[in-house]
Amino acid sequence: MPLPRTLLEGHIRFRRDEHAKNRGRYLQLAELGQSPTAMVIACCDARVDVSAIFDAEAGALFIMRNVANLVPPYEPEGKYHGTSAAVEYAATALKVPHIIVLGHSHCGGVNAYRRGVRDKVPEQGFIGRWLTLLDGVTLVESDIFAYGDELAFEFAAVRSSLANLHTFPFIKKRMEEGLLALHGLHFDLGSGELLSLEQDTGRFAALPEP
Ligand SMILES: [Zn+2]
Repeated sequence: MPLPRTLLEGHIRFRRDEHAKNRGRYLQLAELGQSPTAMVIACCDARVDVSAIFDAEAGALFIMRNVANLVPPYEPEGKYHGTSAAVEYAATALKVPHIIVLGHSHCGGVNAYRRGVRDKVPEQGFIGRWLTLLDGVTLVESDIFAYGDELAFEFAAVRSSLANLHTFPFIKKRMEEGLLALHGLHFDLGSGELLSLEQDTGRFAALPEP
């Protein structure tokens, strides 16, 4: 089966428009390497277009996407930790000043877990095990009251990923040195709006105006 025609045509448009217009920038990125403004840990969901949400150009964001935007705890004895490897590279090699965990509405992964689908996933499958990262997350009463169960669970997943990021020694160290800040955001597919986890109140609220 060949590559879908929409992708081939899209690539032709990319070369003709975006790449041709910014050739100098792409050459510079190729020669000098990347120096992203932030790492974003987002969901694989096709509807969460991270670069579009932030209107970010190539080179601006170091993006890790996985099912339900989860970060496992620091497990140096583990086997193949793709997410942890990306976090390590972003923090220690690229030295990004910001790591953003970006949740989103209608998240299939979070909601599958919420509906107990995890229990029906075969033992040998990967998703069920991955979603056990949500075991023990606690919902915040005020989130449920203000936004309902579904969003409250998606918020809790973001909080859990942020808490797990704190278990990485190199993250903790860079935060203590004032060189790294963590952020929790939630993207609403319908409205396109972002809610931000406020440090002082611990609640999700509309983003402040720049
Ligand atoms: Zn999702």
